[in-house]
This record gives sequence, structure tokens and C-alpha cells, in this order.
Amino acid sequence: MQALLDLVRDVPDFPRPGIMFKDITPLLADAAAFAACIDALCEPWRGRDIGAVCGIESRGFIFGAAMARALGAGFVPLRKAGKLPPPVVGVDYGLEYGLDRLEIGTHAVAPGEKAVIVDDVLATGGTLEAARRLVERLGAEVVGASVAIELAGLNGRARWPGHVPLHVLIQS
Ligand code: IMP
Repeated sequence: MQALLDLVRDVPDFPRPGIMFKDITPLLADAAAFAACIDALCEPWRGRDIGAVCGIESRGFIFGAAMARALGAGFVPLRKAGKLPPPVVGVDYGLEYGLDRLEIGTHAVAPGEKAVIVDDVLATGGTLEAARRLVERLGAEVVGASVAIELAGLNGRARWPGHVPLHVLIQS
């Protein structure tokens, strides 16, 4: 995993002053590293009858779509407000400054279907937890989440329920 971490670029003061942005595009552009990353993200979920991989907009789409293909599951986009056509259900959640909203198509997952949530970066944890609540609202079973990079210093995993597996490739 250290080799993968070496392909993540730290960009200071982006998109705002004071933010250290993790740029995953060099990792995506490296064929062997991207394949290894997808294999590793899928590892806990193989043979688990996963029906839906739910990727969080937007970089969660990149990992999530590749994972869905590898797991033989469908891909479900969890999108920012107003991007999906109706009918949708949504959840509002707090960011450091202000509110944000994630939405899912009302029929995108079935009651009882096993779902995995995917994102690139876990920071304060608000986004991932909102995604879990959203998918569960439709009656699917969230068996866990996979995240490529955890910013461990922000302790985002404290917002994720301890009994639901949270799988992280790289801590930074
Ligand atoms: P959280 O809700 O604070 O955990 O923020 C996680 C969301 O913000 C994820 O959807 C990430 O894609 C995005 N994010 C936060 N920090 C970074 C970063 O350093 N690089 C890329 N995305 C980030």
C-alpha cells in the first residue's frame, strides 16, 4: 500500500487556503496501481453476494464503477442535490461550513439488497455516514464501506457505526 500512497499527491491550499488536498489522479493514471487498488478495495466483499456498489460523487464513481464490475454487482451513484432525475430520496448533512445533500434514485437499490458504499477520501466522516443513512433508508443492507484514503487525524471513523465494517486502504 505504500506504493499506492506514493502516487497520491498532496496539494496545499486547494481548493481553499488551509486545505491539504489529496490528489488521486496520478494513482488512477497508473494502470498497475489502479488495478491493485480496485482489487484491494474489493477484497472484503468477494463472495458476499453484493448487489450494489454505491459510489459517492464524484471520485467515488471512479472506484465504485470498477469495483461493481469486479464484484459482478450493479453500480449506484449517490449524487449531489439536483443531479439525478426524479424520483429521488435525499439526506442533508453538515459540513465544516454549511450543509450539503446527497441523493439516490428511489428504485436504485432493492429492500434487503446487500450494498457497499465507496469513496476516495474519508475526512471528517460526514459524507460517508450520510451515504450509509441514505442507502439504508431504501431498505438495503449496508454491509460496509471501502475508502481508498483515510485522513486519520480527522477521526472521521468515529461517525461511522462501529458494528459496520469500514475498510480503508491507506491511512495518511
Ligand atoms: P468528509 O465528509 O469530511 O469525510 O469529506 C469526504 C468527502 O470530501 C469525500 O467525498 C471526498 O471526496 C472529499 N474530500 C475531502 N478531503 C479530500 C481530499 O483531500 N482529497 C479529495 N477529496 C477530499
